[in-house]
Amino acid sequence: MKDISRDGHDLSLPEFLAYASIGGAMRPFKRAKRYAIGLIIPDWDRRVTYMRAALVVVDRQLDFRFRDQVKAFDDEKAESSIESVMDMLQNTKTIILFKSAEAVPSDLRHALDAIVHVPPPDSRLVRGVVRWAYGIGVTEQQAESLAKSNWKRLKLAMTRGRPISRVFAVLEKMAQEEPSAPKQAKDPEALSEIRLEDMEGYGEAKEWGLELARDLADWRTGTISWDDVDKGVLLSGPPGTGKTMFARALAASCHVKLIATSYAKWQAKGYLNDFLKAMQKSFKEARDAAPAILFIDEIDAFGSRDDAQGSNASYDIKAINGLLEQLDGIEGREGVIVVAACNHPKMVDAAILRAGRLDRHVEISLPDQHARGAIFRMHLHDKLTAGDHRDFAVATAGLSGADIQKIVRNARRSARRRREPITKDDVILHLPFMADIPPNILKSNAVHEIGHAVVGAALGMDLVKVAIAGRIRVDASVQSLGQARFRRGTWIRKTRDHYLDLIAMTMAGMAAEEVFLGGHDDGVAGTDGSDLFEATKTAIALERSYGMGEKLASYGDLSRRRLEEIGHLDPELMARVDRILQEQLDRAKGILERHRSACMMLADELVARLELPGKEVLDALDQPSRGRDGSAMRLDFGPRAR
Ligand code: ADP
Repeated sequence: MKDISRDGHDLSLPEFLAYASIGGAMRPFKRAKRYAIGLIIPDWDRRVTYMRAALVVVDRQLDFRFRDQVKAFDDEKAESSIESVMDMLQNTKTIILFKSAEAVPSDLRHALDAIVHVPPPDSRLVRGVVRWAYGIGVTEQQAESLAKSNWKRLKLAMTRGRPISRVFAVLEKMAQEEPSAPKQAKDPEALSEIRLEDMEGYGEAKEWGLELARDLADWRTGTISWDDVDKGVLLSGPPGTGKTMFARALAASCHVKLIATSYAKWQAKGYLNDFLKAMQKSFKEARDAAPAILFIDEIDAFGSRDDAQGSNASYDIKAINGLLEQLDGIEGREGVIVVAACNHPKMVDAAILRAGRLDRHVEISLPDQHARGAIFRMHLHDKLTAGDHRDFAVATAGLSGADIQKIVRNARRSARRRREPITKDDVILHLPFMADIPPNILKSNAVHEIGHAVVGAALGMDLVKVAIAGRIRVDASVQSLGQARFRRGTWIRKTRDHYLDLIAMTMAGMAAEEVFLGGHDDGVAGTDGSDLFEATKTAIALERSYGMGEKLASYGDLSRRRLEEIGHLDPELMARVDRILQEQLDRAKGILERHRSACMMLADELVARLELPGKEVLDALDQPSRGRDGSAMRLDFGPRAR
């Protein structure tokens, strides 16, 4: 949004909304100098608005020379429409709007660089856009109602400078004069009463949930006391990995009521007092229904008291304190399990995660191939064959459960339009465009991941699996190309040795590239979250937070400080950190050299199969596997470089 001026183009609110939605969907192409993109817009009746917004995306100056770079494709007159869009493809930038994925003729499908679905504006987007364009804050409820409003009316009602209360009054009047809309039918595709036992893709979270169901059953019969039951868990993971669905399935498995709420719901009215009251009400509702599960979404929105700054600081701090009070409960909260969810666990205040509160943290990652197949089967209600589900799973690496659900929903819609049962082709039509990763890149990715896996396993870490992606989506910018996943031990003592091992394992991908490929590429560094960045952070913490380096003085929690700030503050530190990184890189290289032939064999195997279970790597190294709680013997290879 910052690319266009608030009033320069005189856009209406619907046009701003369309612009922001298109901008979000086309983010991967933001810096591209040339593109030809098909946009599937959520509402064909609004195509004129989307066209105007797309024009601003192509040409911020709204110069009329560019008019013919954006067109809406009329599939009812497909022949003449194809003619009219063919010439457009000669332009440097072209956007063509389509009613649906089915409306894209196959020739055009291949000629376009990508076909992107534009999501309908949700309340979050509406809030941001209204604040940006009109300088007005609206509540979640108001934003929801704006998102659902008729765009023609919205255009008329929302004039600049008009107070928001007046806008709503005008919208309401207009609505009263219109015949009421038909009631929404119940969603026949909804998955009702799914239990955790039937779900896939939840790994450790599922184990925890089933364990909890057993504990709750024992608590009900009086076999164990409430103190022996886990009272809270924090689920973290990318959006759409089914955290909300997990809470629902967990409640079904535990046979208890689910009270689902979120930071945004509590905040709906905006004032702190209302926020605290809404929060207390949710906890009370859960206590009254006990045993019950209280699901709190977006717990990272509370932020952390350390970070609270500016005019909202006092609000944020009081909100967190209010939550802590509720989590502790003056009269206890016997029978209430709190399941909280977030995308950014590092932003959660440390006190919320202390013992007796949400003391368990389980990460839910994107589903692996097996889980994706099972998620397809679930959403297809067992229609199509197991082989089809497998094929879909292969073609959807990097997608979340929510993405899969959307593919199936669209496929079902295509079948409905034809008035026939769903077929494999319906699903294929809606699969993302994927490109095969060329063999040389596959090999270097495999070498990198085997590096992590072998060094981690050799240092006694509990390797679950190692995997690389064989294909990549062409429509998304950030995708994981591989991973070596380790199970976290519950009772590991996090000593200096532990952190040095962690650094060696984190740098082992880079080490493997240097040992086996003669040098590393830029994938190991350069971004937050890259291997080198994470290893640097760990080394800094070891030196200046945990008292495990040369000095004892501690800066406390470093996770929220920017690295440049620390570097400025303490130039000597960076030299020491560099030494640690170099030593651990050498140590990782030493381990890999000792297992040279196993590494080469494992990398080839990984290229061929894309995924290897941890045990296979251990067998190749001839290592006994370690125990699940992380307490097994540490196996150390060679002298430790320190
Ligand atoms: P999150 O809370 O993590 O953003 P949701 O629980 O809202 O994700 O997921 C949205 C939808 O995606 C769910 O209603 C479900 O249809 C689908 N989904 C996500 N993960 C899974 C899964 N593991 N199995 C089946 N469906 C899933």
